[in-house]
Amino acid sequence: MVAVVPPARPRKLAKVPFVELADGRLQGVVSSGSDIERVYVSSVTAGDHAYHCSTNNNRPCGGLRGAPCKHLESLADEAVLQYGVDRVARYLRVDAGDGTQTGVELLSRLDARHEPTSAAVVFSRFLRHLAYLELPASTAVLPELHWFPSTGAGR
Ligand SMILES: [Zn+2]
Repeated sequence: MVAVVPPARPRKLAKVPFVELADGRLQGVVSSGSDIERVYVSSVTAGDHAYHCSTNNNRPCGGLRGAPCKHLESLADEAVLQYGVDRVARYLRVDAGDGTQTGVELLSRLDARHEPTSAAVVFSRFLRHLAYLELPASTAVLPELHWFPSTGAGR
């Protein structure tokens, strides 16, 4: 399949279409590994390192079993690709230490705990982000938009 949106950086856009350091959180949207119709909203709070992962409909992620799930790991890895490990570590207020290079390694250094949060805020930021990406002249299908058959409000 041809990439429709040229990545500014070597990120896996199809897997993690949205990642940001905002609202005191590392947060973003991760596509399901098994179901193309489903996305997960994952976040880690800066400072107290509360994490959560759910579908965009607020269904808890089945991968959360006392530890960050693979979506959170993907999100952290992508954040490190996008922002660099130092910036992500500083934002989350975690001591990256020597030799920490990936988001997964960074996650393992958190004193993390699970705390449910609403996916709605992150998800609406993602939708706004997608709106910026829309290319007026493009007739190609954006894979990222497949998830939102019913969210064409106003656009
Ligand atoms: Zn998850």
